[in-house]
Amino acid sequence: MENEAGSAPLSFTESVNHMADRAFEVLDIDPGIAAAIKACTATLEVNFPVEINGEIEVFTGWRSVHSSHRLPAKGGIRYATIVDQDEVEALAALMTYKCAIVDVPFGGSKGGLLIDPTKYSRDDMQKITRRFARELIRKGFLSPATNVPAPDMGTGEREMAWIADTYKHLHPEDVNYSGCVTGKPVAHGGIRGRAEATGRGVVYVMREFFRHDDCVADAGFTGGLGGKRVIVQGLGNVGFHAAKLLQEEDECLVTAIIEKDGALVNEEGLNIQAIRDYIIENKTIIGYPSARHVADGKSILEMDCDILIPAAMEGQITPENAEQIKAALIVEAANGPITFEADEILRKRGVAILPDAYVNAGGVTVSYFEWVRNLAHIRFGRMERRYDEMRGGHMLSAIQSMTEQPIPEWIQKELVQGADELDLVRSGLDDTMRLSFQQIKAVMDSNDKVNDYRTASYVVAIDKISRSYLDIGVY
Ligand code: GLU
Repeated sequence: MENEAGSAPLSFTESVNHMADRAFEVLDIDPGIAAAIKACTATLEVNFPVEINGEIEVFTGWRSVHSSHRLPAKGGIRYATIVDQDEVEALAALMTYKCAIVDVPFGGSKGGLLIDPTKYSRDDMQKITRRFARELIRKGFLSPATNVPAPDMGTGEREMAWIADTYKHLHPEDVNYSGCVTGKPVAHGGIRGRAEATGRGVVYVMREFFRHDDCVADAGFTGGLGGKRVIVQGLGNVGFHAAKLLQEEDECLVTAIIEKDGALVNEEGLNIQAIRDYIIENKTIIGYPSARHVADGKSILEMDCDILIPAAMEGQITPENAEQIKAALIVEAANGPITFEADEILRKRGVAILPDAYVNAGGVTVSYFEWVRNLAHIRFGRMERRYDEMRGGHMLSAIQSMTEQPIPEWIQKELVQGADELDLVRSGLDDTMRLSFQQIKAVMDSNDKVNDYRTASYVVAIDKISRSYLDIGVY
């Protein structure tokens, strides 16, 4: 397929590199350093046989390390039929920038297995996952110190638990074995709040955006997040948690959700939990009673709304539909949903875009907390929670005896409650997303050459990464 100018569309990796190039230019980085940062360090391809129902099937998977200026290299493993080497390398590059933007001290990596997970039984998936993990471990592409996968499209806690167990069997002497992968079930070394983290992070980003009057006005909005009409593409783990929070806590109207089998539209606002329950029961959105079903789901990206959240997959907004997008703000919850060519069109049209490498970094942020928890071998809050409660109690009695005033019950509750692990994780996530927004905004405010959030985010990332190359040198 060719684009309007007659040249072939850019690959995913080229698209990411072109976006990064805008920042290299702004920062005037030495071309050698720029090339070193952009280059993918190593990609492993494995082909391995697994016996399924008495027959041998050969599976192909990749694990790509984009950068190792910080270790471990970090990033999810996806199971999908669209996976290929270019996709995995592009996603690994995004992980490098993502970690740098949110100050997570990891390099960037990504993995993928070419498979349709819906076609295999649970037992088969376990066999395939354990075998894939063994390949990665044996070849040095999976360990708590060097390369730590996490869930991504088509994978979840279940796969992460199998991977951790496989590593433990191969390396029982490694006291930190449970840090070899994140996104594990809480009962197997996971952390509370990881499953919701990416979606929740997206919402924390949006709340922070709406705290800055100049950003709100530049995007052509008035008022706060409440009441804004939002369209969400993809009701997977990320889209579901983001949409649910926006509807339930921020009083947004989620007017449409787009799924593989069409879209659900209701201008009065959709009930996200009800739709999720319906999907789990019926394996489709078709027939959901309280909304209009539109068979051509993708056309709904162009429907009138205030905010569009693509939370499905890459390459959804291209030169073919970029002119027709009505949203004033696009929040990229998926990785790479807007191609470089479409990004150029949207930038010219003045559409504000909060970019993937920042917006969906909540997942890796909480993965970082999980990894630290695994290395510390203790749950966050375990030492101080009761102590904090006791201090809160003392403070309450002191205030009460000094003022002789009754303290409202809700204040008493707040003061006396010690933070548990989920409170701490959410607090750390919120802080991370807010601080990163402020860093990105500071770049835009201080540099005339930067007037979009994507370039500013890459400037934040590349400034930090290049410093590590310049300080340590190349050897
Ligand atoms: N797969 C997620 C991402 O793309 C999470 C990565 C991680 O937690 O390491 O950001």
